[in-house]
Order: sequence, then C-alpha cells, then structure tokens
Amino acid sequence: MNAIAVVPGTRGVRVVDRPEPAVTAPDEVKLKVVRVGICGTDREEAAGGRALLPDGQKDLVIGHEMLGQVVDAGAAVQRVKKGDYAVFTVRRPCGKCLPCAMLRPDMCRSGTYRERGIWGLDGYQTEFVVDRECWVVRVPERLAAVGVLAEPMSVVEKAIHEAERVQFARVPDALATPDWLSDRRCLVAGLGPIGLLAAMILRLRGARVFGLDVVDPGTARPQWLEHIGGTYVDGRNIGPRGVEDALGAMDVIVEATGVPRLAFNLLEALAPDGVIALTGIPGGARPLELPGGELVRAMVLNNTLMFGSVNAARGHFQMGVNDLDHGLEVWGRHLEQLITHRAKVSEAEGLLEAHPAEEIKTVVEWG
Ligand code: BGC
Repeated sequence: MNAIAVVPGTRGVRVVDRPEPAVTAPDEVKLKVVRVGICGTDREEAAGGRALLPDGQKDLVIGHEMLGQVVDAGAAVQRVKKGDYAVFTVRRPCGKCLPCAMLRPDMCRSGTYRERGIWGLDGYQTEFVVDRECWVVRVPERLAAVGVLAEPMSVVEKAIHEAERVQFARVPDALATPDWLSDRRCLVAGLGPIGLLAAMILRLRGARVFGLDVVDPGTARPQWLEHIGGTYVDGRNIGPRGVEDALGAMDVIVEATGVPRLAFNLLEALAPDGVIALTGIPGGARPLELPGGELVRAMVLNNTLMFGSVNAARGHFQMGVNDLDHGLEVWGRHLEQLITHRAKVSEAEGLLEAHPAEEIKTVVEWG
C-alpha cells in the first residue's frame, strides 16, 4: 500500500510502499484511512525538523490527524464495529512511568513516549492502519466531513480543560459556578486551525472570544471567527501589550502561534488571577531577551499562571468529537469551511512545502 514518508533530518517527502497491516490480536482495530490533515508539525518534519525514525526503518510515515473507517476488528473490540468512522489517538506509552501505565501518555514523565507519524512510529498518511482499541474513538457518521479535525480538537480540549481545572483549584469564584467560562473574556492568539478550534470550544462554553492574528480582516480566518461570534483583533494595529488598553484584560488566553516573544508579551494582557495556556511549539532555538523583572513581578502581584500543554488523552479526543457535534448543531456546515484545501496523495509533496493562500486546514484524501 502507498504511504507518505520522510527521512528525518532531510528535506522533502516521498511516496513509499508499506505492507498492508492486519488485525493480529483480539483488541486490535483496522481502519481504512479516509483523509489525513496536514499541520505545522508535518511541515516541520518535511523540512528536515523534529521527527524520529522507527527502530530498524529507513523512513517514517508521517501524519497524525486522521479519519478512518473500521474494516476489521478483533473479537474483543467493543467500542467500534465494521463500517463505523473512527480516529486513532497519537501518542503511545513509554512502558516506564505511571501516567503512561494509566493510558495517559500525553502526560509521560520519562520522555520516552512515541508518537504515530512524528516520533518513532509510522503515522496515518497511508491506506490502512491498525492499532489497539484503547486508542480508538468512534466518530458519528454525521461528523464524517469534519471528523478529521478530532486530533487538533483534542489538543485544544486538553489545554482548555486544564486551564479550567487549574482555575477551579485556585480562584475562589471559579469553583462557585458550574459554567465558569460563560461570559469570561478569552483571547486566542494565532488563528490557525488550533486557534480557531479553541475559539469554537470557548464560544460553545459561552465565553466572550477575541482572536488575535496579523492578517486582513476580510480573509478566511478572521471571517470564520466572526461567524461563530468571535471578535477579530488585528495584531498589526494592536500589539500584545496594547490588548488590555484596547479590549480590557483577559481571564484566559490560549496561545497557538509558537512565537515565544508573543507568548511572554501576552502575560501583560492577562487579568489578575488569569491563566495563559501555551500550545504552539516553536521551531527554532533562537535566544530571546525579555524584561524578566517586570514580567515576574506582574505574575506574582497578579496571581497569574502560564502553563504548557501538549498532545491529548483518548478522553480529550472524545470531548473533541462531542464538541464538533455540538458545533455542527449550532453552526452547521460552517464547520466544514475550516477544511480549505483537499489534496490527492500525488499532490501532497507540494502542499507540505508551502502554505496555500487562505489556507486554514489542508487534508490529503485517501478514501
Ligand atoms: C501534535 C501532538 C504532538 C505534538 C508533539 C503536535 O503537532 O498534534 O499530538 O504531541 O505535535 O510532537
């Protein structure tokens, strides 16, 4: 079967041949891949950046944002049946630490986890994939058009859920109300797929959502945001340090740019007791000079919190699927407009090298 692979550390992708996998254990599920999304991590891998070769292999099949359809399942499998749409999660346990033993490799402590399509395990840009039932999440058929967004949704669900839970633990009025996010002022920085999905989840929770980016207001991303009731903030007119003056201070910020300077500058846009979740993964290692004293003083005097969040557990995928369903109910086919570009396998190479104009999400169609 065909698969799209990289040789870690080198530029470019190529179509390779892999044997078709089969179900060999009672708890395994085989999916026929329908489509697979391309994200910043895939582009980084294709540019020779962060990626780890599986043991004994010469290349790594990329792709971790998938939607498939069940074509086979072992006798013990209960969560899905033949014909169901489904997705597999990304990270696999290290076999050494407690979170991994609890099926929470997203919180791995040894750092020796593996990730399908990224770190030591072949991914989903191929025709068929097999994995264990504990990593599968069923996607209702009505979500077939947007189910490929389950993985980026899972990443944001985790970050927002953690922000909420940590606020419940430390902010007196947060625990006093069951819908704390309702009417909260929330800023999403970076309106790529992660930022727009964060905005959607926050809108579904009733939050007041502002979305910061540096593109023209009439373009696809700000327009998508405004349609779901968010307010676009053009970062070319209002810098992160000006957010508070222009819009008021934010209770929650979700950073989805991977630009370290912006991440730290955004601390100034936080309200007292506020929280900022970092989800963007910076590519380079360039050092950064910051007004450290000012930043730490403001954090301490305002009880603000900054934390990082990566990957997601199966439960976060389930939350993502549930919220896609809720989003579909509220905004209908508007959700599908997040998928702006569809590529054939033969076109994937070009699309991994450059962002098409007005891109939100590009997917490779396999089904
Ligand atoms: C993926 C995560 C992964 C992270 C680090 C992201 O692009 O969505 O699943 O954990 O990269 O490799």
